[in-house]
Amino acid sequence: MLQGRIALVTGASRGIGAEVARRLSAAGASVAINYNRSAESAESLRQELEAVGGRTLAIRADVSDRDDLTAMVESVESQLGPIDILVNNAGFVRDRLLLRMSLEDWNAVWETDFGGAAWLATHLLPGMTERKWGRIVNLGSIVGIAGNAGQANYASAKGALMGLTADLATSVAEQGVTVNCVAPGYIDTDATAAIEPQYREAWLDQIPMRRWGTVEEVAAVVEFLAGPGAAYITGQTIVVDGGLLAGRALKG
Ligand code: NAP
Repeated sequence: MLQGRIALVTGASRGIGAEVARRLSAAGASVAINYNRSAESAESLRQELEAVGGRTLAIRADVSDRDDLTAMVESVESQLGPIDILVNNAGFVRDRLLLRMSLEDWNAVWETDFGGAAWLATHLLPGMTERKWGRIVNLGSIVGIAGNAGQANYASAKGALMGLTADLATSVAEQGVTVNCVAPGYIDTDATAAIEPQYREAWLDQIPMRRWGTVEEVAAVVEFLAGPGAAYITGQTIVVDGGLLAGRALKG
């Protein structure tokens, strides 16, 4: 399905990104596994994918650092080929109540969750449009739609990513390139493992499906958006949240 395609997945050493890398590789794409600090996990994923015939590369780059991004793109394209599929997955949170949020807290989250994704998209789009095929999938969040007290930096960065998705999509639609976003709700990963049990219980009550999502359930949507079945879908944000946002809307 994705044979001959080259994919770059940011933040693929763990969690949702690692599962996306697995699925794109299983679908036939050559996959660059980006990581920042988790070198061992990225290397172990690379070995796992190569053991079943995948063509992969593990590559370190801090997505908030433009020099790292430039070097990463050059390295991936020289070793695997021109990038056809970009999955902007790397992200992190630094939660604080708004009144206590420093400029550094804002910038750190914005530079990673929005800045790196925007830089990669704008630098890879010219090649994709020239080759008349490309897929960009951004990882947003339901927090970027509904907000969440203590996450103003993260909510605004993810909200901006959804706006960027719609804007870029309309700019490149005629050239065979689609740009979409996947907005997960509460998914079981390292990022959410540290949440205290009483909060987890309270959130479960709000989720109509009464369970957290899995990385597989998010990665399946990313794979679909990267594949031929989604050729006529662009500029969309697909929410994967077990009904959480719909349930909140009904409760008013
Ligand atoms: P996770 O388990 O915490 O993993 C985060 C990944 O991002 C790691 O591979 C990490 O790499 C990478 N990363 C973080 N900062 C980076 C940087 N500066 N440069 C390069 N890579 C960096 O996260 P996750 O839960 O899988 O989340 C993945 C994406 O989905 C994020 O964008 C997140 O905001 C979004 N999301 C998650 C949830 C959820 O409930 N889990 C909900 C909504 C949205 P290293 O470890 O190598 O540094």
